[in-house]
Amino acid sequence: MTRPYNFSAGPAILPEEVLQQAASEMLDWHGSGMGVMEMSHRGKEFISIYQQTEADLRELLAVPAHFKILFMQGGGLAENAIVPLNLSRGVSADFVVTGSWSQKSQKEARRYCSVNIAASNEADGHTSLPEPAQWKLSAKPSYVHICSNETIHGVEFHELPDLKALGCDAPLVIDFSSHVASRPVDWSRVGLAFGGAQKNLGPAGVTLVVVREDLLGHALPACPSAFDYKIVADNQSMYNTPPTYSIYIAGLTFAWLKRQTENGLTGIAAMEQRNLAKARLLYGAIDSSAFYFNKVAPHCRSRMNVPFFLRDESRNDAFLAGAASHGLLQLKGHKSVGGMRASIYNAMPIEGVQALVAYMREFERTQS
Ligand code: PMP
Repeated sequence: MTRPYNFSAGPAILPEEVLQQAASEMLDWHGSGMGVMEMSHRGKEFISIYQQTEADLRELLAVPAHFKILFMQGGGLAENAIVPLNLSRGVSADFVVTGSWSQKSQKEARRYCSVNIAASNEADGHTSLPEPAQWKLSAKPSYVHICSNETIHGVEFHELPDLKALGCDAPLVIDFSSHVASRPVDWSRVGLAFGGAQKNLGPAGVTLVVVREDLLGHALPACPSAFDYKIVADNQSMYNTPPTYSIYIAGLTFAWLKRQTENGLTGIAAMEQRNLAKARLLYGAIDSSAFYFNKVAPHCRSRMNVPFFLRDESRNDAFLAGAASHGLLQLKGHKSVGGMRASIYNAMPIEGVQALVAYMREFERTQS
């Protein structure tokens, strides 16, 4: 059976090999007589799954030894509260607003500390990135938050800001939910990274947090124990019952990522090459057409989430219906932005983007 191409922004497409392996192991994981959903998180079977998952992620993302990897719950939105509860010390934090997700983050943080907006691209409709040299960082923020890939507006930091070079000692917090594992991370610039799994890593339900060790142990008294990074780290993410099945599928995805090769590269470096090729193809098709357009400044365009518009919006429904009949699913743009959005995460093969581009050209031809 050939499956349609799924361009959902998340929960999103997973590698078919991962789904097939999960299906084959559903009733009996490795001769244990149990499915993964039925296992105790304290048993040797799940502990081995967990340890392999963590080790594979550390290797794939080249996470340095002085960072802890945590698998939590609550998604990106819970992290918007958990980060200030752990890092703000009740004082203040700086935010760079570049789209809906960083906007939500700064609003939530205000419940726990004071917030300074160091820069915002609101004036241009979230279609560019404010230059770090222009940011108005406060004197002593407890951390500086950015969303390194704005899933809705389709703007991505192609280089993380170097806060030290800007004269700021505070740790950088990145919400990398929608581009984690699509490209390498420069950990020398990061204090904490968080992301929900349901785009590039696996199913919804598990949230990845990668945090520098020296940032642990400063939670506010009001922070729930299950959300205190130090307690989570000290208990290898098993202070409470972790989302075991989601962690297992993420583990299968990491193993899949490790097997990927492209132009002599492997793992994340291979994925980055493929993601670049997919993004070039799709943006190229949009830019070379008078029928479609994208509003984001070219150097800030996301490789993962590509919002685009038909110049004649009255044809949107026909475009989407035709796409679905060509096996191209979930292309409707986010309601706050309108138009279309193609999310082209790691698991989307280049053939999916080729099929989308071919359909876009065909649709344009039949309409003019
Ligand atoms: N941050 C970003 C960048 C996202 O794309 C999303 C979800 N689309 C979230 C945060 C919120 O994640 P969740 O729904 O898992 O809380």
